[in-house]
Amino acid sequence: MKVSYSCMKNMDSIIKSHNARIMRQNNPTTNATKTCNCRDKGACPLRGECLADSIVYEATVTSSSDSQPYVGLNGGDFKSRYRNHTKSFRNKKYEKETELSKHIWALKSKGSDYTIEWNIWKQSDTHQREPGSCNLCMEEKLAIIQSKDRCINKRTELLSHCRHGNRKHTRLKPR
Ligand SMILES: [Zn+2]
Ligand SMILES: [Zn+2]
Repeated sequence: MKVSYSCMKNMDSIIKSHNARIMRQNNPTTNATKTCNCRDKGACPLRGECLADSIVYEATVTSSSDSQPYVGLNGGDFKSRYRNHTKSFRNKKYEKETELSKHIWALKSKGSDYTIEWNIWKQSDTHQREPGSCNLCMEEKLAIIQSKDRCINKRTELLSHCRHGNRKHTRLKPR
């Protein structure tokens, strides 16, 4: 498998990382002391912010034929979620774990080279929720809707349950 976090900076990702920077300035992370624990900082999947928690993230998978985004979220730190993703790309046993791993395995079966670029879409504090809703789950659903049909995610993921607490959260119906 060949995954490189190369500097494929198309316009889209430049705008996205710019937006992510503005978002982080407005929403400083609570973990101000340590934002990355990568031994090789140059290989950090989030460019020095892999320990960000409660984020909606976007993985853009680019192959020779196309480029598609996948939207995901993590309640804990991103690094743990990232490790699970990379494990599912390496180990066929976990092929069906997420829509992203299914997509990667489909590319691998075609012998297609690909790159994955990870970006923070939005950081959202799961502890400051409106009663009856979960900010993080809501942001993920909005991100999936905004990416329209380009997204690797399935529409049915809009109906997934919140795992960030006991409160009931608002579910969106697929359009
Ligand atoms: Zn890192
Ligand atoms: Zn939630």
